[in-house]
Amino acid sequence: MSSSQGRLFGTNGIRFIPGVTRDLDFVIKIGEAIGTYFRDGEILVGRDGRTSGEALSLALTAGLMSSGRNVAEAGVVPTPALQFGVKNLGYKGGVIITASHNPSEYNGVKVVGPDGVEIPRLDEQKVEKIFHDGSQNRANWKDVGTARDEPSAIRTYLQGVLSRVNTKAISERKFVVVMDPGNGAQCLAAPFLLDSLGCKLITINSVLDGRFPGRGPEPIPELLGDMVAAVKASNADLGVAYDGDGDRALFCDETGNVYWGDQSGSLLADYLLERNPGAAVVTPISSSQSIEAVAKKRNAKVIRTRVGSVDVSRTIIERKAFFGFEENGGCIYPAHLPVRDGAMTTALMLECLAVRGMSFSRAISHSVPKFYQSKTKVEVSSQNVKGIMRAVEKQSDGKMEKVDGIKAWLDERTWVLVRPSGTEPIVRIFAEAETQERVESVLKKYVKMVKRAS
Ligand code: MG
Repeated sequence: MSSSQGRLFGTNGIRFIPGVTRDLDFVIKIGEAIGTYFRDGEILVGRDGRTSGEALSLALTAGLMSSGRNVAEAGVVPTPALQFGVKNLGYKGGVIITASHNPSEYNGVKVVGPDGVEIPRLDEQKVEKIFHDGSQNRANWKDVGTARDEPSAIRTYLQGVLSRVNTKAISERKFVVVMDPGNGAQCLAAPFLLDSLGCKLITINSVLDGRFPGRGPEPIPELLGDMVAAVKASNADLGVAYDGDGDRALFCDETGNVYWGDQSGSLLADYLLERNPGAAVVTPISSSQSIEAVAKKRNAKVIRTRVGSVDVSRTIIERKAFFGFEENGGCIYPAHLPVRDGAMTTALMLECLAVRGMSFSRAISHSVPKFYQSKTKVEVSSQNVKGIMRAVEKQSDGKMEKVDGIKAWLDERTWVLVRPSGTEPIVRIFAEAETQERVESVLKKYVKMVKRAS
């Protein structure tokens, strides 16, 4: 297998622009390869609300059936609902057609194992090998697969989320919540969850639409102005926004302050660790040091991983960790399922605020020390990446971590992470410090250094 035809899977499944970078033939063929990889049993297929989703889902289903697999079709569902359904409705595996937070022209294929988690990296390579060397099974007329509907994925998922939180405490607080699902797949699930939890719900961008006409499919603070305005106008307790496939959640407090996922994740970690002191929390190397401060207080351990939710999920499973999160708003509560889940995260946040009897802003300032972060990317030529990393290493004389790229500590509370992208000719630079000025000056210095070395 040559490297040019090697990798199909990126950090989060296979991504492409249907009809432009990949066609339906590709999707049928990858369906056959996935079906061959699973060998036997019934596969659950679902999709997010993208306009190309139905065509891709039918093509993928045809490929799975061609390889001899039977298929159950869940239709449009949040990614975590598909994942929960695979595990709890007893499927051999699952496939979700989604491009998560990518622009509307994109779509993709994510493969889920029987445990509900994305298949491991080595298994992705098995699928790729079947695809490339043409060893996919093609069933004869007697053994070709069948397809049927699976209508209970969302109901099962919401019951699962509700079973993990103190519904009485949450309902008694009578939260007013502004929800912005961004026209994504949580439109079909999260509003019903909050209704079951006795919340008064105000929704924006809550009609499923694969063109994402509201604020687009990626929830980042700059794009959540409508949610912030609605929270202020309605005196809501909080706002929550999801990405296109509903596995990430970003929150704002009652004053309209939007938090990155490592701040809200550190708050949830603090709440959960209070009841389970000494447990382990998993987060990528790029998220805030505030979690170390929280963990220290709770006598807990922080395990740092490479950037990417699959690495966080798999590490949580291996190390039997209690909780995990990413700075982009992906939170993982393995008691429910060891994958990112926007609705589970929302339910936990409501429980935290209800049990502590605090406003959101007070809960954050009570638990999570404040640091300032900034990030940027520099375009480089891919041949120079090694030289750039050597230059970064040479510049740093303090503590260094090499989990993913190089994270150099400049003093006790200031770090910079220089990380080459796995898929594009760019180097990403993250920095964190106690003041905004310090962050900006560190970032500027390292951008200059990377540019000089490239
Ligand atoms: Mg997503």
